[in-house]
Amino acid sequence: MVKLPIPTSFNSPLTGSHHTITDPSMPETIHLLLDTADPEADDLRRGLDDLLQNNGSLVFRFHNVSTEGLSAVLDKAKNTGEKNELSPEELEWIEPSYPSDLDSLLVEEQTIFQKLPPPRPAVSWEDLFDFIQQVRPMRDIPQNELAILLTPSANENNWFSSFRSSPAPEGFVQTTDWEFFMRAPRWFPVAHEIWTLILQLKGFGSLRNTLRYAHKSAVGCLNDFCEEKSDIHIKLRTADICDACLEVMLRRDLTQELLAAATPALEKIRLQSKFLQQRFAEAEASPLFIDEKGVLHFENYQQLSCRLAPVEKAVYLFFLLHPEGTRLNELSDYKQEILDLYLCIRNQDISAAVEVVRKLVNPLNNSANEKISRINAKLEQLLCLPGRYEHYQITHTSGTYAIPLVPEKIRLHARWDLTSLSK
Ligand SMILES: [Zn+2]
Repeated sequence: MVKLPIPTSFNSPLTGSHHTITDPSMPETIHLLLDTADPEADDLRRGLDDLLQNNGSLVFRFHNVSTEGLSAVLDKAKNTGEKNELSPEELEWIEPSYPSDLDSLLVEEQTIFQKLPPPRPAVSWEDLFDFIQQVRPMRDIPQNELAILLTPSANENNWFSSFRSSPAPEGFVQTTDWEFFMRAPRWFPVAHEIWTLILQLKGFGSLRNTLRYAHKSAVGCLNDFCEEKSDIHIKLRTADICDACLEVMLRRDLTQELLAAATPALEKIRLQSKFLQQRFAEAEASPLFIDEKGVLHFENYQQLSCRLAPVEKAVYLFFLLHPEGTRLNELSDYKQEILDLYLCIRNQDISAAVEVVRKLVNPLNNSANEKISRINAKLEQLLCLPGRYEHYQITHTSGTYAIPLVPEKIRLHARWDLTSLSK
C-alpha cells in the first residue's frame, strides 16, 4: 500500500472555496507541494520563486508538506544514475489505459521522426578525405589548416560527420537527411556539427582521442556519441561541454578564446532549433524587421532570420511596401520602383538589372510566379509550422497577391523608404 503524504502545514491558508467551476478570466493556480523532509526546502523554494514568476495566466502557490510518514520500498535505490523501465503493470497502475484517440496520434508522431532516410549511395571515408587532400593545393589551403567538406553524400559508416588530424586536419559533414531526425532547417544541425568538429579537433587532437572520451550514452555534452542517429536532436539542444571533457580539452589546444566564440554560437543554435522543435505556433505573429541588407528578422521567434536571393528580396520588399497587394499582370506598372529596389540590393550593371526586372514584370513570363513560389518555400522551410509562415508568405486571393501580415508588425530599415529610393 502506498500512503499519501499528509500536508503538515500550509504557507497560506486555503480560501475554503471549492474551485469546481473554472472561471476563464481568473488565472489558473498551480500548486507546488514542497516536501519539508528536504532540509534545504526553503532554498529550493526561493530559487523556484525567482524562476516561476507569476504571470497573467498562472499563479504558483507553494504548500509545505512532509513525506516522512511514507515507508520506503527499498533500503537504497539501486544505481540511481540509471532509469528503470516501468513494467506494463506499473504503468497500468500509474496511468490506466483508457481507450482514446491518442493511439492514432502516437502512430502519426512515430511516422514523423522514426522513418529512416531512403538508401543513398555511400562514399568511403578514404575517398572523402582523399578528395579534401586533392582540393587543398587547388584552393591554396595549407596542410596545417582545418578543411571541412560539407557533402550531401552518405558515407560508409553512416555518420553525420567525422574528421581526422593527420596528415592534415580535415573533416566532413553530411548535409542531407536531417529532416528525418529533426524539424529545423538543416543549417542548424550542420552548423552544430561544424562547431563540434572544430572543438573536438582542438580539444582532443584527434578522432581517436575524441572517441576515447565520447559518451556512449548521452549526458548532454558536445561529445555525446549519438549511436542512434535519432538522438541528434538531443545533442543539438546541448550547448555545453561537460566538466570532465572540458578539463581535458582545455589542457590541449582548446583556448579560452575559441571557447568564448563557440559558446554564444552554439547557444544561438540551441535556442533557435529548440524553438523550431515546438509543435504549436505562437498565438501571434512575430514582428518582422527588414535590415539594411534586406535580410528578414523575425524578432519574436528567437531572432530567426531569412536570407533571400537579391531578386527575391526586391520582390518581397515590393509586396511589403504595397500591403494592398497587386495582380501579377499589373506588376509592369511598378517596373521603375522594383528596379530601384533591386539596384539597392544588388549593385550591378544597370543593363543587366533592367533585363532581370523586365523579365520579372512581363505578364507573359512566369518569372514573378517562380520567385514568389521560391520565397514562400524558403519561409516555410525556415519557420516550419503553417501557423507561423502563413503570416509572411505572399498569398493570393482572387488574383491579387499580398503579404497578409498587418503593417503595424512590419518595420523597414530607413533605406527602404519609398520616397528616398528613387533619389
Ligand atoms: Zn563530456
